[in-house]
Amino acid sequence: MMSSLTKEYSGLVDYLENQRPTKQKDKRVATKNVKNIIEDCTVDQIDSITALKKRYKDIPVDNPLYHDTPFSKGFDVSRFESLMRMKLVDEHKKIQSYERPFISVTELLGCLRRAYYVRMKFPVDINKMYNFSYLYLINKVGDRIHDAIQGLYDFTDTEKTIVSEKFKVKGRVDAIKDNCVVELKSIDDKKFKNQYIKAHYHQGLVYAYILNTEYEYSIDTITVVYIIRHLKKIIPFDIPYDQALANKFLNYGPQLLLAISAKKAPDPINADNEQCKYCLYKNEFCMKDPIESVKRPFDKTNKKKDPRKSVFLM
Ligand code: SF4
Repeated sequence: MMSSLTKEYSGLVDYLENQRPTKQKDKRVATKNVKNIIEDCTVDQIDSITALKKRYKDIPVDNPLYHDTPFSKGFDVSRFESLMRMKLVDEHKKIQSYERPFISVTELLGCLRRAYYVRMKFPVDINKMYNFSYLYLINKVGDRIHDAIQGLYDFTDTEKTIVSEKFKVKGRVDAIKDNCVVELKSIDDKKFKNQYIKAHYHQGLVYAYILNTEYEYSIDTITVVYIIRHLKKIIPFDIPYDQALANKFLNYGPQLLLAISAKKAPDPINADNEQCKYCLYKNEFCMKDPIESVKRPFDKTNKKKDPRKSVFLM
């Protein structure tokens, strides 16, 4: 009878052999890896199939084998993941408990309707919001990278808190250097496409507008600096200041505050399919709330539809 170790091993070998690499080179690498594993199995005594899995580094993240956490007496990975998730949830609850008379710049740049649901504490499973617990580590690493750069480079100002009394918007600028607002962003090398991400530019733009109109600065450039997370490359982009575009974003501030005081969900301004894909408010609330002039990204038609007015024929 086949032992469970042998079964798991043959499963792994089946999986590897059934991979269909598109490139001939990948195919050769995969075959070589399978061969190495087989040779190792016959020569060495395998204590655990886990050790075998760890050796094969090309298992994609969506394969269940990837998620098999290696056992360790000294460090329980699953427990650490739960601790990170708990910390993220705690931080979320803490922010929710504050009185927030000002709209944050981050709220202006994402889906306005979603920001409304968050502010109004519409009930969702917060744990699901932080399913990806590694966000905790990513944030921590990002903070340290900020500290290192801000501490070393001769910026004119760093971590400057700014408030727009006119638009009721608040934010914190990473750095200012002469006439440039500088946004520091750490990014995964696989996600970096050799161009700046529009939302990062828009963030700097909003800061620049507030600095120019309410703090007597003359910002003419937004510099978005990408620090690739392997920490071996930094790529800055200089993008010109656009007052009209900044003004458009800032006007969402009073719009959101108005929606909050009227207790009426605003249109899904600034929403995109990526945000909707992971939005916990989608089915329970967003789909049921009416829209006025901006449709939801996933709405199929251009028709304005109020589902509350739908008539069901029995
Ligand atoms: S589902 Fe999309 S449009 Fe609706 S609130 Fe969420 S992000 Fe906004």
